[in-house]
Amino acid sequence: MIGVISDIHANLAALQAVLGVLEARGVRRVACLGDIVGYGPQPGECIRALRSRAGMVAILGNHDAAVLGTHGSAGFNGDAQAAVALNRRDLDPAGLSYLAALPQQALLDDLALFHGSPSRPLTEYLRTPGAVGAALRAVDQRFLAVGHTHDPLLVGLDAAGALDIRQPEGAQAFALKPGSRYLINAGAVGQPRDGDPRACLVLLDPAGQSVEFVRVAYDIEDTQRRMRALGYPEALVVRLKAGR
Ligand code: ZN
Repeated sequence: MIGVISDIHANLAALQAVLGVLEARGVRRVACLGDIVGYGPQPGECIRALRSRAGMVAILGNHDAAVLGTHGSAGFNGDAQAAVALNRRDLDPAGLSYLAALPQQALLDDLALFHGSPSRPLTEYLRTPGAVGAALRAVDQRFLAVGHTHDPLLVGLDAAGALDIRQPEGAQAFALKPGSRYLINAGAVGQPRDGDPRACLVLLDPAGQSVEFVRVAYDIEDTQRRMRALGYPEALVVRLKAGR
């Protein structure tokens, strides 16, 4: 089994809940699709949790790059920029050098890993059928795993070029067709935006026959308390419970 997680956003309670599921399900190898930091109150703790876990392949997200200062945050709204500044203030040199060493793409078996998309790894949101189709055609692997939208999604592309778009409703498993290739959007661990506030993770069986979207409840109030105590923007605190 391969685990796929994305957009942790410095939310340690959510990350621990997800790591607990991976442990309970015996999943050793995990892809982390970036945005480890940004928005949330515990960037350093999340980085340490990822570093100390064997079998974790992680890539860079746009918020990670913004905290590093290597990617402009000009496109971010004021709240996101404020969180970037707070995260940067709170990260130690070891945390910053971990982020600085992250690649913008990686491979894990037959999965190509990008935060946004193959052509614009840090910035593109794959939302439209045309963009998803182009992204799948841009990689050689059977699976393309992305995050960035915070909205879980599964799109199949069959040999005839037809797309099969599935929007998981909460926890849901899908059987995969042998001749099809797939885009898997792993949603978000630390700031879901599909209306379900529970942390999201994806499990892919090693034979590529099924993919399971898992949702796990975590202590949202704990993260919210920490954010308020550290002066994070209230809109970022409130949205965690709304899942938007
Ligand atoms: Zn994100």
